[in-house]
Amino acid sequence: MIPVYQPWLCGNEKKYVMACLDSNWISSRGFFVEEFEKQFAAYTGVKHASAVANGTVALHLAMLALGIKDGDEVIVPTLTYIASVNAIAYARATPVFVDSLKETWQMDPADIEKKITAKTKAIMVVHLYGHPCDMDAIMAIAKKHNLYVIEDCAEATGSYYNGKHVGTFGDIATFSFYGNKTITTGEGGMVVTNDEKIHNHVLHYKGQGLAKGREYWHDVVGYNYRMTNICAAIGLAQLEQIEFFLSKKKELAKKYKEKLDHLPLAFHDPVGPIEHSYWMISILTERADDCEPLREFLKKRGIESRPFFRPAHKMPMYEECGGNFPVAERLSSCGINLPSWPGLTVTDLDVICADILQFYSRCNTVAQRGCCTDVKT
Ligand SMILES: *Cc1c(COP(=O)(O)O)cnc(C)c1O
Repeated sequence: MIPVYQPWLCGNEKKYVMACLDSNWISSRGFFVEEFEKQFAAYTGVKHASAVANGTVALHLAMLALGIKDGDEVIVPTLTYIASVNAIAYARATPVFVDSLKETWQMDPADIEKKITAKTKAIMVVHLYGHPCDMDAIMAIAKKHNLYVIEDCAEATGSYYNGKHVGTFGDIATFSFYGNKTITTGEGGMVVTNDEKIHNHVLHYKGQGLAKGREYWHDVVGYNYRMTNICAAIGLAQLEQIEFFLSKKKELAKKYKEKLDHLPLAFHDPVGPIEHSYWMISILTERADDCEPLREFLKKRGIESRPFFRPAHKMPMYEECGGNFPVAERLSSCGINLPSWPGLTVTDLDVICADILQFYSRCNTVAQRGCCTDVKT
């Protein structure tokens, strides 16, 4: 089976993990935690970075650090991974969904503006599949309406907007280092900000709400959301290889497009003053009814793929926050993520593309591809 993703652990990962074991520093304090935070802050160009247990708690900490609470509304794209929306629910705030843009698949600034009410406190920006959102437009809206901006950069390590790394535009930003993310720590995440006060809130909440300078005195309901030194050791080794990962992924995206460009497929092309990091290399089938048959066809030939996320407003716990999101729904029903890990060989890529070509040539009539009469544009 050719996997959609797997980590590439061919750098100093083993050496650094052994250094943790040899030194007895295996818990959430130690050299690698500090060093990983320092180097990640330098890489993204922010003042403060705080390593945490995963990308989901990173988002929860962002909510806590901004003081988002019961009764507040947070605007979020409906087409995102569920963790973005759940973090809003953890803070007892209400997610308010917006639709996506056809061209970039990112949240639609015009729809954001429509959804702002007196209760709106923040916009949660998600840079989906490695393509940055339209940050000029979003920051202008936030400024005009005095709203916080949280950037969920879980899928966008190595993505740039106007020459600046994503996560440096809003008040606070989060990253994920799950096993299938651009760099991994196994499970892990990072919270970054340029604001010292916000950073101190993050440290406070992630470390059990411990008060400054007093032992075993806790002045808020805190959490244990820290990253271990072992995870940070893996993270530091991964960060050393980031340019290699990004160049490999960009090369794969280019090759897929070259080979498949003449088929009835759309690609996730960069739009605007951006650098796309291609966390996932994605295609859209022209017709929604080709999507599942193509995935089935690939699966039978040992090629794993993933559908796009399902819009969050469709999930039972968020149904009541629903509305009309035609672009997000269409993207979700036509989108496929192809094998995208940096170690994927050119031979594997050729096999995958040949199979996709075969799907479209063998099943060259719509009926053969398992389609009905649905012709959406
Ligand atoms: C992966 C991901 C997260 C959650 O990260 P975990 O480390 O898996 O908890 C959050 N948001 C988005 C958009 C993601 O892709």
